[in-house]
Amino acid sequence: MSRLTPMMKQYLEIKEKYKDHILFFRLGDFYEMFFEDAEIASKELEIALTGRDCGLKERAPMCGVPYHSADSYIAKLIDKGYKVAICEQVEDPSKAKGIVKREVVRIITPGTIIDPSMLNEKVNNYIMTYIENENGIGIAYADITTGELKTTDFKNLESKKKVLDEIMKISPREILIREDFDYNSSILKDIQKNYNVLITKYYNRAFEYKNSEDIIKKHFNIFSIDSFGLNDRKLCVIAVGSLLDYIYETQKVPLLHIDKINIYNYDKYMILDKFTRTNLELLETIRGKDKRGSLLWVLDKTCTSMGARTLRKWIEEPLIEIKKINDRLNSVQILYNDVILRSELRELLSKMYDLERLSSKIVYGNVNARDLISLKTSLKVLPEIKSKLSEKKFELGKIFEEIDELKDIYNLLEESIVDDPPLSIKEGGIIKSTFNEKLRELRSAITDGNKWIIQLEERERKNTGIKSLKISFNKVFGYYIEVTKSNIKNVPDTYIRKQTLANSERYIMPELKEIENKILTAQEKIVDLEYELFNEVRNTILNNVNRILKTAKNIASLDVLLSFAEVSSIYRYNKPKVNNSKIIELKNARHPVVERVAGEELFVPNDTLLDDDENRFYIITGPNMAGKSTYLRQVALIVLMAQIGCFVPAEKAVIGIVDRIFTRVGASDDLSQGQSTFMVEMSELSNILNNATKNSLIILDEIGRGTSTYDGLSIAWAVIEYINDTKILGSRTLFATHYHELTELEDRIKGVKNYCISVKESGDDIIFLRKIIRGGADKSYGIQVAKLAGLPKKVIDRAKAILKKLETNDINNKRDYKDREIAAINLLEDTPDNTSDYINEKLNEKQINLFDYKSSEIINELKNVDIINMTPMDAMNKLFELVKKAKAI
Ligand code: ADP
Ligand code: MG
Repeated sequence: MSRLTPMMKQYLEIKEKYKDHILFFRLGDFYEMFFEDAEIASKELEIALTGRDCGLKERAPMCGVPYHSADSYIAKLIDKGYKVAICEQVEDPSKAKGIVKREVVRIITPGTIIDPSMLNEKVNNYIMTYIENENGIGIAYADITTGELKTTDFKNLESKKKVLDEIMKISPREILIREDFDYNSSILKDIQKNYNVLITKYYNRAFEYKNSEDIIKKHFNIFSIDSFGLNDRKLCVIAVGSLLDYIYETQKVPLLHIDKINIYNYDKYMILDKFTRTNLELLETIRGKDKRGSLLWVLDKTCTSMGARTLRKWIEEPLIEIKKINDRLNSVQILYNDVILRSELRELLSKMYDLERLSSKIVYGNVNARDLISLKTSLKVLPEIKSKLSEKKFELGKIFEEIDELKDIYNLLEESIVDDPPLSIKEGGIIKSTFNEKLRELRSAITDGNKWIIQLEERERKNTGIKSLKISFNKVFGYYIEVTKSNIKNVPDTYIRKQTLANSERYIMPELKEIENKILTAQEKIVDLEYELFNEVRNTILNNVNRILKTAKNIASLDVLLSFAEVSSIYRYNKPKVNNSKIIELKNARHPVVERVAGEELFVPNDTLLDDDENRFYIITGPNMAGKSTYLRQVALIVLMAQIGCFVPAEKAVIGIVDRIFTRVGASDDLSQGQSTFMVEMSELSNILNNATKNSLIILDEIGRGTSTYDGLSIAWAVIEYINDTKILGSRTLFATHYHELTELEDRIKGVKNYCISVKESGDDIIFLRKIIRGGADKSYGIQVAKLAGLPKKVIDRAKAILKKLETNDINNKRDYKDREIAAINLLEDTPDNTSDYINEKLNEKQINLFDYKSSEIINELKNVDIINMTPMDAMNKLFELVKKAKAI
């Protein structure tokens, strides 16, 4: 029988413990994979599959990647949902007796990536644990690259929808569950349908209370978990404990930068469900999933990646406490007013590196001297930032107080690390001589040695009379004396020949070797000493990493506030008044994103007045493309902006705190979920009706579109009644609809007001005025819009003819819907019934409207202006003419 080779035996022993992982087994300069791992990796990474004798009859399938370029291969595997275990040689091969000892030193999973090249610096990468039992649900999540750790619990199981929203908001890359958890009937399954998240089953014991409590106590070095306020939050304890357990298991080093548990109540923030976050395009657009075109895109003028990550969080977690909102608004006001302070602070911030991720490198022990220089550069600006803030202490107080100048750390770095160190920390050249007496002595020994060599060269030239004699150094021979062929006759006997070259001979002599020895030993000692000193510096910083992180957090907040002030100033936003009323009053308000895309001058501002009485509910009608959806979102976005503490695009804004914003916008198909449009629409609607309160803002855009006219109309009607019933809901609502019949409700229900977005008919065309006015729209202008969309003339003409017939037959005036529909069907028998779909499609595709058309004319004209060949007067005239045209749109 064949026997396994010792190395294979070692491999299989380790692999046994990491069955679910692809094991990267270090062999010299390569990571090798064997057997099934090799088969998977060769396929996924497109690398050659070979074999290796392993002692068995058949060769073991094998493939490998060079260790120095392993990162990109690991990234690919992680991206495809695999987990990777890195197995290193943990002793020096030259000193090993028998086979080199190997151990798994780190496990990489989607939620535990630390390599910057695999991460997006502006987005957090979260690993989460999920625990569900008869008492409720607990979650905990951490970003191990920044040290953030948060947890919350949901007491009753009815709130699963809330849990789902919360998890979707956090969007962890990986979720940990108990091995025996019934995943298939859990909400996690719904989450996985929505986006790509890895579900990892982890051993049950990690989810036991005692185990969790112990690990928390150990990690944070505390006597009782009460110190975190966790005493009555068992679910949080389990969630955090199991998470830490997993982090230890995968990272193999204690993560000191995870230094506190942030327990939060998810209802401390405005709750935004998944649909609302998507529909309002907060972080990315619906269509292209691009940042460009989202609210984040408009608001992001942050200078650091810590700030960028914080901004995302703030946008997804608007506040609901007036005091906190006003604190932020007041801070923005100060930074808004003081242009100089703002630009100075922003300049200082842009000099800072990512303190959070630098801290995590320090914790992991993989920080190099260049990172420490980045750290030093970042710390250098802290005192300046602090002193600039000191005058504004009052409102920006908390940030001011919590920024630690970290002068001691800065000084340590300044004293110890050279300004431009090499990448490697094991080859010397990183510590300043002045930092350590011993190091200084060793370095001067080298300088002396070099001086001796020069003197020796001088002396030998004189003694031998060979003027071209040279002393040089190479790695093979060390120092040697080089003499050209023509001078060999003058070489003394004491020289020992070492090497013959084409034109010269190389020699050594004992004295030279003695000096060399001194220099080289000193060099070796320097390298060791520098490494030791570097580690000392690193450890000192490690012990202070929590101070760095706290400061980083405050810098991040400052960065976001500055970004708000900057954006508010360049886009002319104003400070909203946020209070406890039920009012939303906006004067000349604009859509923050559309105005950026369309151009500020072209955007038509509009007013809003919602309250809890007469003006609770807007029914908004108007033709396709009039601007209904834009108006709805504009109101929602302005409320959200105010509650994250940003100024808003309106001349005046009074906002009574909103506890939730709900939206149901457009009839988008969610085919990936296997549900029909209508089904999706109705389930979103029921979510709204079940969860909204008097303090909510509801945005309904064209609900009921997904079914037949009668159904849709009746549902819409009933919904309006329900929302307006103050005993049940009474939420402030904006409702855009194409059912003109609904405008009748104004007379029937108190609080309902009809509005429409005005258009002007001009002959055969229509012009969108974009102004919202009181009253219902009387016509849908479908044919005119269709014409704008470029529908063939034949279709337009035919449609007009049919419309005329309809109108003369007075079908529109028939009160009874049934009669009306029958009459219409009779008339339209020979007309294809998908005309309106076609129009809609065309419209969406081209987004054509008169506005765009006319402005593009002006743009074309602008493009053709030949400024170089114009007199100033001509230029003035041209400009005058263009302005006139623009105003006329
Ligand atoms: P509707 O929902 O009524 O069909 P949209 O809200 O989708 O219309 O608006 C159609 C287009 O009109 C938008 O893409 C935008 O470019 C433009 N638009 C909307 N409102 C305004 C406005 N107030 N000022 C300028 N352009 C606007
Ligand atoms: Mg619309």
